[in-house]
Amino acid sequence: MSPNPDPKSSNSALNRRSFLARSAAIAAVPAVATLAGGAFAEPASADTLPNYAPIPPSALGPAVNAQGYFVGPVEKNLYWVTDSAYQAAFLTTRDGVVLFDAPPSIGQNLQRAIDQIAAEKGVSNKVTHLVYSHHHADHIGASSLFGTDVVRIGQVQAKQLLASENDPARPVPDVTFETNHTLNVGGERVNLAWHGTNHTADNIYIHFPDHDTLMLVDILLPRWVPFDSFNLNEDVPASIAAPDTAMAYPWTHFIGGHMGRLGTRDDMVLYQQYVNDIIAGVKTALPAVDPTPFFVKYGNNLWAASQQYLAAVVAAASAPVINKYLGVLAAADVYTASTTFAILESERLDLGFGSQVHP
Ligand SMILES: [Zn+2]
Repeated sequence: MSPNPDPKSSNSALNRRSFLARSAAIAAVPAVATLAGGAFAEPASADTLPNYAPIPPSALGPAVNAQGYFVGPVEKNLYWVTDSAYQAAFLTTRDGVVLFDAPPSIGQNLQRAIDQIAAEKGVSNKVTHLVYSHHHADHIGASSLFGTDVVRIGQVQAKQLLASENDPARPVPDVTFETNHTLNVGGERVNLAWHGTNHTADNIYIHFPDHDTLMLVDILLPRWVPFDSFNLNEDVPASIAAPDTAMAYPWTHFIGGHMGRLGTRDDMVLYQQYVNDIIAGVKTALPAVDPTPFFVKYGNNLWAASQQYLAAVVAAASAPVINKYLGVLAAADVYTASTTFAILESERLDLGFGSQVHP
């Protein structure tokens, strides 16, 4: 999901190189630059970028340390690590450490965080097992840092997807399961379950029955609206249903894989309400916005008419939701419209809402 801005990209060599690349591109394709309104030719200027509402303090987690991470207990010997954009978790056991996800943005700080806790607690800092929540590179792209002497575990489709993607940073899991797998390591117990496709085909529920915790990545990002276009969820209806499955588990603490804080059951309820409000907005707006003027204006340019018509539906559906959640969920004014578009299209295409058969 959201890429971290790379602080290195501001160094002058890179700037010069990208400036030269831009210049070459402009020289080579002046017609395209003109067609695109010169948009890609101009570097962004902070002065002209749009303003958004401030992030509510409730959406922010603990401060990261000088190395850029925070590590703390979730419950007992279950810990979480964040760089305030991504999250991983680990369980210390008498036989070593079980790591859950390895986001590349946290990268080498994963082992630093583990070393820090292991030293404090006087336990082993050796990662023996690495559980993949799902195959996406932004959550497991630091897997290869843990070498070959680690048992990797994932859903069977994670193995298939990773085998086809063939990324050396993400070795395929050694242990796979279809629906359920109980991981027993060093006296600790973790239940891994697959309840069907949601965000991806292989995204799993990681339940810590002895730690009152559920980890489910890329569904609820506590106190933030979803990332662009509803977290880029592959299956929108199943992703909308996923919180009910999550709530059927007993847990108090929630690890969502993103942003700077853990979640609560109240956060999940709030998120469900937000999504339900978008669905309700879509169902009100779709029949209310008259498509006629868009097709009158654009004639045989069906894409222009569709784009403008659906943008009007999105604006009508999302405006009250943005209003309601500003100050409640972070970045409601940034991504509610794109998530509304994703849900609008799912309502139309997956569920047939607003579909009419030619008489
Ligand atoms: Zn993902």
